[in-house]
Amino acid sequence: MPTTSDLASTLDHDQAVGRLRASYQRIPAGAPVRLAKRSSNLFRPRTTLETPGLDVSGLTGVISVDPVGRTADVQGMCTYEDLVAATLPHGLTPMVVPQLRTITLGGAVTGLGIESSSFRAGLPHESVLELDILTGAGEIVTARPTGEHAELFRTFPNSYGSLGYATRLRIELDRISPYVALRHVRLGLDDLGPAIESIVADGTYGGEPVHFVDGVAFSPDEAYLTLGRNSDTAVQVSDYTGREIFYRSIQQRSTDALTAHDYLWRWDTDWFWCSAAFGAQNPYVRRIWPRRLRRSDVYHKLIGLENRHQVAARINRRRGNPDRERVIQDVEIPASRLAGFLRWFDAEVGMRPVWLCPLRLRGSESWPLYPLEPRETYVNVGFWGTVAIAPGAADGDVNRRIEAAVAEFDGHKSLYSDAYYDRETFDRLYNVAALTAVKERYDPDARLTGLYEKAVTRR
Ligand SMILES: Cc1cc2nc3c(=O)[nH]c(=O)nc-3n(C[C@H](O)[C@H](O)[C@H](O)COP(=O)(O)OP(=O)(O)OC[C@H]3O[C@@H](n4cnc5c(N)ncnc54)[C@H](O)[C@@H]3O)c2cc1C
Repeated sequence: MPTTSDLASTLDHDQAVGRLRASYQRIPAGAPVRLAKRSSNLFRPRTTLETPGLDVSGLTGVISVDPVGRTADVQGMCTYEDLVAATLPHGLTPMVVPQLRTITLGGAVTGLGIESSSFRAGLPHESVLELDILTGAGEIVTARPTGEHAELFRTFPNSYGSLGYATRLRIELDRISPYVALRHVRLGLDDLGPAIESIVADGTYGGEPVHFVDGVAFSPDEAYLTLGRNSDTAVQVSDYTGREIFYRSIQQRSTDALTAHDYLWRWDTDWFWCSAAFGAQNPYVRRIWPRRLRRSDVYHKLIGLENRHQVAARINRRRGNPDRERVIQDVEIPASRLAGFLRWFDAEVGMRPVWLCPLRLRGSESWPLYPLEPRETYVNVGFWGTVAIAPGAADGDVNRRIEAAVAEFDGHKSLYSDAYYDRETFDRLYNVAALTAVKERYDPDARLTGLYEKAVTRR
């Protein structure tokens, strides 16, 4: 259990916010503003900045956990890894814990967070009770669902820092048992959507309660839903931080059990399946790859090195292979259209496997910048890798086709990675008119980079 000394004190927090504000004032007007953060899960490469970033030191902790009221006060740049470490000893967890350890609470609330509780708990911003935001005007305001800053509260999700930066968030917490019992259920593509809808409707499958749902389609003929159930006991638990690999276990066994901690981080150890690209799934390499370095942030740094030095790309070219296009996306498709989208994706893009995670807004109102329909069940389809650029095609073509298909299947695309929309389409899909109205109030001098500039022009 973390001691109170592990928690950030209110005084420390106030001082850290003071440093953040001072660092904002030091950035010359007209110069781009960016967080000076050590980790990032943003996937699009960004232009390098000359100006120093915002000082977020001292904004990375948990301020308090209220186990009775089931809430926590958390600093904006606190990673989910640290947040979970503070809540789990109380048998509590954030309502939605994104899979990658270094995603921060502020990042998930201003960006996107989807995990296996999202079919009942929605998105991370739906469990925020209030948040302090450093606005573009340099002020700290406390935004809540009602009151003076309610419009900022609702427009903040999916604004990716274009309206301001969350420095403190009060969030609701959920109960979690010490163990999560798993069932891996193989289903045909056409059966996935109906099975998900039925679990959403009554929280059970085959007569057993379901508290968590996600899935993997290895191919159009081999798809699974992994159903998790809170459990106070387990006869035996698996460990996928060692030699065994979680995603492979889905094909190999029909039931399993993990500690709650290992369940929450089951995808981080191998970055879903993406660690294969670095050899980390080769048994010999895995044996010597230190366990503490089998983490998504380590792989992310390796990708950063490749982006800078292009070693693999050069070797690829020297071998006479075509250049490759990065296709790293998460898209939300209505459950009723899932099978059609997966068939289209496999035929046209052909990347395997893909991650599936049902989600449904927890509340009855849509959120302006990522307009999912309330009461509609979506499935997040995640695919992360590269495809060969076909002769005569250009880098970005496959991503553009995916953007068009997502629209045809009535879906939405998250903005943490590459986006190619023209401005008009982007403005329509992400409701930039609503963003602009709020931005004029909270960032009157337009000091913060706009959403289109961040998401599409990579600033
Ligand atoms: C391969 C891959 C797979 C992913 N899969 C998933 C997934 O399945 N489910 C999921 O939940 N998410 C997923 N993500 C996306 C991730 O949740 C988002 O990119 C999230 O915004 C990253 O948060 P971060 O804390 O790392 O922020 P950063 O990467 O540091 O920043 C992301 C953006 O958020 C802004 N930002 C960061 N902190 C704050 C703050 N406190 N206040 C305001 N703005 C802020 C930054 O300005 C920036 O524009 C995935 C990302 C990758 C790369």
